[in-house]
Amino acid sequence: MPQPTPPAPEPVAADRAVRRRRHRLGAMVAAFAAIFLLRCAAAPDATVPERSIVACGRALDIGTRVVSWLEADGYDAYRRGRHFTADEVPDGKLRYEPVRGGLPDAIAARARERGLSLADLQRAVHLFVIHFDVCGTSRQCFKVLHDVRCLSVHFLLDVDGTIYQTLDLREKAHHATIANDASIGVEIAHPGCWPQPLSADMRRWYERDEQGWRMRLPPGVADGVRTPGFVARPARAEIVSGEVHGRTYWQFDYTPQQYAALAHLCAGLAALFPRIRLDAPRDATGAIRTNALAADELLAFDGIVGHFHVQTNKQDPGPAFQWDRVLDEARTLRSGMRP
Ligand SMILES: [Zn+2]
Repeated sequence: MPQPTPPAPEPVAADRAVRRRRHRLGAMVAAFAAIFLLRCAAAPDATVPERSIVACGRALDIGTRVVSWLEADGYDAYRRGRHFTADEVPDGKLRYEPVRGGLPDAIAARARERGLSLADLQRAVHLFVIHFDVCGTSRQCFKVLHDVRCLSVHFLLDVDGTIYQTLDLREKAHHATIANDASIGVEIAHPGCWPQPLSADMRRWYERDEQGWRMRLPPGVADGVRTPGFVARPARAEIVSGEVHGRTYWQFDYTPQQYAALAHLCAGLAALFPRIRLDAPRDATGAIRTNALAADELLAFDGIVGHFHVQTNKQDPGPAFQWDRVLDEARTLRSGMRP
C-alpha cells in the first residue's frame, strides 16, 4: 500500500514574509501591465479620450475636441446603413475598405495574415488630404457622404472647430481617388468657391450684419453644429480670390475655429505618421502649388495636400485656404505631442 502523502510543512515565519513580498510584487506587475494594455490597446473598444484621434486602436491626445464614431453624437462610418433614418435595417454597403491597396508585398502579406499594424500603417500612409465639403456643416456632409453617396472620410471639421473622427485611421476611406490607399482625409465644413464674386449662389450662403459677413445656415442645418448658437464668421473680413488650375475663383475664408482645430489635427497626424511632413507641394519660388501633381509626383510626395493637388477637376480647399497659417501653427504644436 502506498504511503499517504504527508501534509506540507507549515512555512516558517521568514518564508511567509518572502511569499507575501513576492505576492505583492506580482500584483503590482499585473496592475501595471493592465494599465499599460488599457492605455495602448483597448482604448477605442471602450471609449476614446475626448481629445484623441485613433489609429490601429492607439489613441493620441491632439489637444482639441475630437468626437469619436463611438460617441452617441458621433458619426459612425462603420455603420452599414443610413445614419439619418429611423430605419435600422442595414443596407449591407461598406462605405470604406478594410484593406488598403498599394502596400509593399511584405506589408500586404502581414496585413492579410494578422491585420494592419500601426508600424506598417505608418510606413504606408504619407498624405493628408484637405477637402471642403460644399455642405456647410459636418452633419450635412455626413448625410450626403454616408447616406446618399456611400462614401467616407476619416475626419469632418465643423464650422465651430469640432472634429469628428468617423473611422479608425487603419481603414481606407473613399474621398480622393488615387490618393485613398496612402492617405488620411478631412472634409472641412464650407460652402466652396465660385468663378464669380458674390454670385446669387454665394449669397445664399453668406449675409452681412453689423459685425461683417457671416454664414447663413438654415435652422435645420445650424442645429447640427455642436456649439449652441454658434455664428460662423470668415477669418478674413472680405471675400478672397485666387487661382486653382489656372482659373480664378472667389471664396470666403474658413472660420478661426476651423484653422485652430486643423492645426492641432495636422500636428497630431505628423506626430503619429512620420511620413506626413508639415508642408504642402510648392513651386520653384517656394509658393504653394495651385495645380495638380502628376501621379508619380503624388506618390513621391510626403506631406499635406489639397484635393486639387490630387485631381484636376477639384478646387478644394480653394484659394482662401491659408496654408502657411495652418502649417506654421501645426509645426509649433507638433513639438509638444508624443505618440
Ligand atoms: Zn474634395
